[in-house]
Amino acid sequence: MQGLVIKSTGSWYEVITQSGETINCRIKGKFRTLDIKTTNPIAVGDQVEIEREPDQNTGIIISLHPRKNYIIRKSVNLSKQAQIIAANLDQAFLIVTLASPRTSLGFIDRFLVTAEAYAIPAKLIFNKLDLFSNEGLDILRQYQEIYEKAGYPCYSVSAIEQTNIDQIRELLKDQVTLVSGHSGVGKSTLINALLPGSKLKTGDISDWSDKGKHTTTFAEMFELPFGGYLIDTPGIRELGVFDIEKQELGRLFPEIRELMGDCKFHNCRHINEPGCAVLRAVEHDEIEPSRYESYLSIYHNNDTRA
Ligand code: GDP
Ligand code: ZN
Repeated sequence: MQGLVIKSTGSWYEVITQSGETINCRIKGKFRTLDIKTTNPIAVGDQVEIEREPDQNTGIIISLHPRKNYIIRKSVNLSKQAQIIAANLDQAFLIVTLASPRTSLGFIDRFLVTAEAYAIPAKLIFNKLDLFSNEGLDILRQYQEIYEKAGYPCYSVSAIEQTNIDQIRELLKDQVTLVSGHSGVGKSTLINALLPGSKLKTGDISDWSDKGKHTTTFAEMFELPFGGYLIDTPGIRELGVFDIEKQELGRLFPEIRELMGDCKFHNCRHINEPGCAVLRAVEHDEIEPSRYESYLSIYHNNDTRA
């Protein structure tokens, strides 16, 4: 029978079946699910086939359904191995604040490049709307324009005052969503606002933030009472794409991707080449300077971590 992996401890996997039953499962034998070596063959978000173990409440994962996407991180100890954090994500939210703390444009761009590399649609949620003065609101509009123009939906909320929370709930409904953001941007407060009176306890929620009492090494999915799942990723700041080929980077910026076919050279780096359609668009203010700067910065450092 088919099920969804919602929790993993490394050797045991919690699987929810289509009839809503939770079964603890083990893996039998060797599973090799990716071309690269991974420390865990199965991750939260995976759709699996399981078989019940005779006379027990446990099960065995016998096969894995194809993934539409997945996120990985390099294993700290075993540098040649990677850990699959989660699979089959429908979307990734980045919670952003313009003050206390300020999320930099560079950080946002690196997150978006990461999401593009993993083929996960990204959305930006600007929190702490209640703190904005008129001038702040102008800056917020500028930020949102930059990202809307690049094709990323933007939303503004106040988790504390519960402004526009219904809109976010609507976005989350029936989706598997990864939530990310600097410590202090209000992830926990937002999740609390989204789940009033739910069975998620504050203790569970505190694990979402970097200040969590204990740090789990495996991701967990939280079922939303209105449908869908949130994914908690431990050490989200380490989440970066590694081994992006430099010539692939342009494709991870939608506004560059759209134009690069018009460059004179097929292997154009969009740095100083003659006949570069991207440089032309930058000169004509059709591409945001901050986005292009992030492209150059990531290109030269080849590092998508922030
Ligand atoms: P996390 O680290 O991302 O989980 O952030 P928290 O939810 O712990 O919030 C960090 C701080 O920001 C706390 O002091 C919250 O009260 C505050 N905060 C969260 N959301 C808002 C908001 O919408 N407006 C304001 N003014 N403060 C907020
Ligand atoms: Zn070019």
